[in-house]
Amino acid sequence: MSGKTLLMVGAGLSGAVIGRHLAELGHRVTVIDARAHVGGNCHTERDGDTGVMVHIYGPHIFHTDDAEVWAYVNRFARFIAYKNRVKTTVGGKVYSLPINLHTINQFFGTAMRPDEARAFIEAQADTTIDDPQTFEDQALRFVGPDLYEAFFKGYTWKQWGCSPNKLPASILKRLPVRFNYDDNYFAHRFQGMPENGYTAMIAAILDHPGITVELGRKVSRAEAAAWDHVFYSGPLDGWFDYDIGRLGYRTLDFERFTYAGDYQGTAVMNYGEVGVPYTRITEHKHFSPWESHEGSVLYREFSRACGPDDIPYYPIRLVDEREMLGDYVEKARAERGVSFVGRLGTYRYLDMDVTIREALDAARAWAAAEAKGDEPPVFFVAPV
Ligand code: UDP
Repeated sequence: MSGKTLLMVGAGLSGAVIGRHLAELGHRVTVIDARAHVGGNCHTERDGDTGVMVHIYGPHIFHTDDAEVWAYVNRFARFIAYKNRVKTTVGGKVYSLPINLHTINQFFGTAMRPDEARAFIEAQADTTIDDPQTFEDQALRFVGPDLYEAFFKGYTWKQWGCSPNKLPASILKRLPVRFNYDDNYFAHRFQGMPENGYTAMIAAILDHPGITVELGRKVSRAEAAAWDHVFYSGPLDGWFDYDIGRLGYRTLDFERFTYAGDYQGTAVMNYGEVGVPYTRITEHKHFSPWESHEGSVLYREFSRACGPDDIPYYPIRLVDEREMLGDYVEKARAERGVSFVGRLGTYRYLDMDVTIREALDAARAWAAAEAKGDEPPVFFVAPV
């Protein structure tokens, strides 16, 4: 065992999981994050006044079909079963999401059974679209114009800042349409919330004698050269000082407010209409239903284009960004001693479970390359 010195830029899920794996193999790991806390955008913090566990950068619900990833998170935190049940307000009425038999019957004022609803929706759907490429085509093909207009069109405009006919179908493919009353937002086998929040879980992952964590400081590319290898989970374009431009992101603004009691009776209430400027309201105490709190902390969530000083959330990946991404990937492939990982390092829309899966795979692939004396990969998953 040679025991390399390794730098993780970023103390989010990618840096923590890769760092832990390689520290357990005997490498010396330093994790540096510009923020004052670990956990990246999964960061949670208990509110001093109400005692509510707040998802500081917006709601995170853990769900996966990956048994190894589920075992991994349960090693570092106690998970409590949680089902994400989302509601949406449209035209002064509240509906169930994802679109299911209840939504369809509520919306059309019917009492259809599954087969009837399936035939009814199929009759509304545009069946001439056989290979939907855009978000709009995907919606028109699978739910038809009425449900699309009510539940997806306005929300998607607000979320992404452009027409759904400019967005890829893959965004909508995240959401199912169900012809039964199952209102579980995610179809995955394992779903839960860490009892003491995500920050405690990520701190536990980082709690290893081979790992040193430094918070509240930025690390420059020149400084990073002092380590044998760097795993960089910051923005890909940021590594190159944005020298060929900035990759497009959406950022979120959270308007925090409190309420004495139960404001909306559920964790997530979406607002489908463009007339309502925010996309959703989240009531954080409902993400921990095993706790009980009198007071409540809520976020009104607004989405907008990400500026240079904003926190990047969702990579946009439209035509212009794809071209620039290709250029950055080419530059990255010429680098030595660094690997780009995670949502920002590979400029992809990643769920937490996929981030952990990729981090475990990356750590193993790096260790295998190192053992053979091979040059470690710059990317473990191709971003384009
Ligand atoms: N979406 C929508 N209406 C909703 C919820 C979602 O149109 O009420 C669309 C929107 O474009 C969003 C996408 O479906 O970006 C994926 O939704 P998801 O809930 O997975 O988004 P996330 O929680 O990752 O923001």
